[in-house]
Amino acid sequence: MNAGLQLEMNFDHGINRFQNCLDNGVFSLLVETGAPALDTELEHAAERLKNLEAAASAVSVLPTSLAITDKYLYYDCWNICDFISALPSERRDRHVVYLSGFGTSPDQLLETANICVAKGFRNLVPVSGNIRPGDQEADVRGRDYTESVTLLKLLRNQNNARIFSGTAVNPFKYTKDACFGNYYKLIKKLNMGAGFMVTHLGWDLAKLQELRWYLSSRGMYYPAIARLWMLTQDKMEKILRGEMPGVVLPGSLRKILEAEFRYSSTQFEAAQWRRLQLYAAGCKLLGFSGIQVAGIDTPEKLNIAVQRIAAGLHEFDTFYQWRAAYREHLGQIDLSPYPYSFYVFEKLLSNQHPQGEFPQMRVAKTPVPGIGEKIGDFLRRFMFFQANNQAPNERYILKKLMAGCHACSACRLPQTMYICPEKCPKGLANGPCGGTRPGGGCELSTVRECVHLRIARHAILRNEADMLEDDFVFQSTLRNKKNGVE
Ligand code: SF4
Repeated sequence: MNAGLQLEMNFDHGINRFQNCLDNGVFSLLVETGAPALDTELEHAAERLKNLEAAASAVSVLPTSLAITDKYLYYDCWNICDFISALPSERRDRHVVYLSGFGTSPDQLLETANICVAKGFRNLVPVSGNIRPGDQEADVRGRDYTESVTLLKLLRNQNNARIFSGTAVNPFKYTKDACFGNYYKLIKKLNMGAGFMVTHLGWDLAKLQELRWYLSSRGMYYPAIARLWMLTQDKMEKILRGEMPGVVLPGSLRKILEAEFRYSSTQFEAAQWRRLQLYAAGCKLLGFSGIQVAGIDTPEKLNIAVQRIAAGLHEFDTFYQWRAAYREHLGQIDLSPYPYSFYVFEKLLSNQHPQGEFPQMRVAKTPVPGIGEKIGDFLRRFMFFQANNQAPNERYILKKLMAGCHACSACRLPQTMYICPEKCPKGLANGPCGGTRPGGGCELSTVRECVHLRIARHAILRNEADMLEDDFVFQSTLRNKKNGVE
């Protein structure tokens, strides 16, 4: 562990206030903040964190606490354990701490998780981590990305009742294979022990309802937190520059935001507060257990946010009242990113809950592989069906040519539709990351398809999608060895 941390035992046994809120259906607010950049004075950042926490603690109208992200605002940032240690040692079970796999081995990440728990931070959300803007493929391939599924599995194996794990999910996907690829991976993470989920940032509430309905249609009723944003113009520009992986800002919404900004920055801010109010109310009516709001970085803003959210929660008596206001506010614009517009269900946002049976799942053709890909698939299955039982370098040339083999430490082809998961530059093995682009492109580059969507497509066509939800696939240890970590 590079932080030289001392274990600080926390004796707040048995209580998890955040989990209690989820279990009892108490709508909560998480205020998002992140580990500061390394070139910031840690004491100053810690002071700001404490002030934010004090403001959150003083809120009485709804449970309010912090969600602290790791390597999200800044890639070169202070160790998350050092940063959160600034918070008062009591009632740390109210907060949620993210743990990023960016540049971190599984052992290091597990150690960080255990230190968090020893300090009383019991609600942990592992994430695989993003690609740093400007990174080339070699940079990404030279770095560890410990997959969230891997840490969830390691935490589950510890069988420590003090840990309450969550998972991130990005429902803002608009092609059939991207939607289902993400949902299969979500279910795998829930199967690996995640007890709640937090969505990616996004504005399309039909997609949030789709997520709830999809899980309910499968009999899964896990609590979910929706992640919202108090947008500023520089953040909007960051999205437009492609520096916020997985965040979809359709042209129609961009035009509205630009028009709001044209009046004045005060007008823009007022419009964002109103949007937050409406979205908070919508999330509650759609069955979310709370919201996590980014962009609230001072106690003053936190207090305004709380007032607005509380007013929004009281403003609408029925779903239909809220829906009318939401539609009026957005002018009924299409929030899908043209030309991609796949939703799992018909008639989303027509009702608060499915009327009787779940609505029809949308019919959308999974792109059928061409004849060349079909023959390749057949040959790979025929030739490599026992590759996991063979030495990794056996038939290397053939595997390289036909399956994109990267000579991993142990072959996993039979678990990944005979397509090498190391084609993913992050080396993720269990499904797509949240950063896939709207049309199915890889987070690293628009011109290459996400390999996990290709795997999902083959699984859907072969009716073998179950294995994408059930089978844990080990990440290759190749990078860890390169970095001197066994
Ligand atoms: S291949 Fe898929 S999972 Fe891997 S980095 Fe690209 S988008 Fe993410």
